[in-house]
Amino acid sequence: MGERMLRGAPAAPGLAVGRAWSREVASHESRLVASDGREREHARALAALAQAAEDLDALAAGLSEEQAEIVRTGALMAADPALSAAVTVAALEDGLPASDSILRATEAHAEEIAAIADETLAARADDIRSLGRRAARLAAPGASEGGEAPPQSPPPPSAILIAADLGPADVAELAGSLVGIALIGGGATAHAAILARSLGMPMVTGLGPDVLDVPAGALLLLDGDDGSLVVEPTAERARAATGAMQTRERERERDAADGARPAVTRDGRRVTVLANVASVAELEVGLRSGAEGIGLLRTELAFLDAAEWPTEAQHLEVLEPILQALGARPAMVRMLDFGADKCPPFLSGTDQRGLALLVSHEGAFVDQLRATLRCSRDRDVRLLLPMVDHPDELAAAQRLIEHTARALGVERLPAVGAMIETPAAVGAVRTLAAAADFLSIGTNDLTAEALGVDRFSVNDARAHDPAVLRLIALSVNAAHEAGIALEVCGEAASDPVMLPLLVGLDVDELSVGSARVADVRRWIRRLGLGEVSELAAIALEMAGADEVEAALAPLARRLQSGEGSDAVAEGVDRGGRILALGP
Ligand code: PEP
Ligand code: MG
Repeated sequence: MGERMLRGAPAAPGLAVGRAWSREVASHESRLVASDGREREHARALAALAQAAEDLDALAAGLSEEQAEIVRTGALMAADPALSAAVTVAALEDGLPASDSILRATEAHAEEIAAIADETLAARADDIRSLGRRAARLAAPGASEGGEAPPQSPPPPSAILIAADLGPADVAELAGSLVGIALIGGGATAHAAILARSLGMPMVTGLGPDVLDVPAGALLLLDGDDGSLVVEPTAERARAATGAMQTRERERERDAADGARPAVTRDGRRVTVLANVASVAELEVGLRSGAEGIGLLRTELAFLDAAEWPTEAQHLEVLEPILQALGARPAMVRMLDFGADKCPPFLSGTDQRGLALLVSHEGAFVDQLRATLRCSRDRDVRLLLPMVDHPDELAAAQRLIEHTARALGVERLPAVGAMIETPAAVGAVRTLAAAADFLSIGTNDLTAEALGVDRFSVNDARAHDPAVLRLIALSVNAAHEAGIALEVCGEAASDPVMLPLLVGLDVDELSVGSARVADVRRWIRRLGLGEVSELAAIALEMAGADEVEAALAPLARRLQSGEGSDAVAEGVDRGGRILALGP
């Protein structure tokens, strides 16, 4: 059989070459239980749920605090009274055996959540299914009365797990014995993906049902960077991937030794590289890779399941450990960016987003400001305002910040930055730059808004589009005219095609996912400002994203492989045309 490629979405970066492996899914004979046995099955089901919660707590004890918190959400779900009520109906009224009662109740709960028009919440459905499978195993007829699950065979060496979906506890449990994870469904915001990223386990989601046809033991090449899975790759492709993995490993070791070296282009342009984080675990990965601080702290991610606006104390609880781990380095703490795909249940249905939503809920905004200002004493904390659309919103926020700081007796006001994420903000960018202390472009939203596409559509939302590049160039110029720094903190900042263009457009700071910090720092050292400035000027005039990508692809390849990086300098000819840059 020849090689076959399946396409999904990248959920945790890295390459893996290994053998396909699936866990047996607990399958139970759906016999009905006679009325005199129903109490017993009911009690067995509830005991299995309680045991699953206990096991998850024990599993969490061996993890870092941030990872443990994710795994513990499974234990909380197991204690949800609505879930026990559904199990009771299935076991006592409908006469299902214990394990089937659990599977039916968790599946119904998962389907309800999956139907919510909110990607992040919908992703929690996988966590519930995973809990259901765990508890069902414990309640299965082979399990001991003490709640010991029937033994599961461990994965063979170099296994790549293939599954329909996965919960965070499965990732935590299997991480040490797998080399990668390939899922039918799931998404990059699922807890399982967050945990895989923090544990450095390559993961691809959304591969579709075809992935289940992959025979056990088949050789696989999983690419968590581009979201693909190659089944039975040719010997040549597998060798190249193994070589790339070894190169990365060597680079990682060198990066660790090089951590303190600044990211400077070959001709001396220094670019600050910061990390996008939402947790201590992510920050630790970023700092180990040489991040110079936090360029984007996504504070809303800690509160996506919240039942109401977070209080000052809750904000402090999330912020303090992160800022403590950061030490004296700078942190751009973004104020809550709720709305659109990041909507907790209590805001469901709102059509407001980011700063507009905060300004119209002043009390909640002040709570977050108070917490942030309180933890910012003696630290380099800067405030970042999300989805700024109009200078009036920025002015209203600044008034509130000043007022809150005065009330707290904070003498030195923190720097306040405006995120540029909409064409309207770019339209007002000179006024915004004159009023703000720094600007930060969120390329994820800016690209989607400028092109009128869904930001999660990999094929449509391409920041490489010259229309987006022009908006970035306008913003950089406005910031520099106003004498302030401009940061880019969207995914584009760590894209090997975009990176040369951003450096060429004179962006001062890049903030990227923690796992990308080392790559970005290394790529910057391979660039020359002279040639990327010319490349950027040419790209601004191109007709579309395809043309930009075709022109930059050879350079992007060389950045990633590290081969012939000196030749990159010869990429632009005297007449300003891009020469064939490779391969
Ligand atoms: C962005 O839009 O590029 C950004 C960094 O913000 P978020 O992805 O959190 O919306
Ligand atoms: Mg955004």
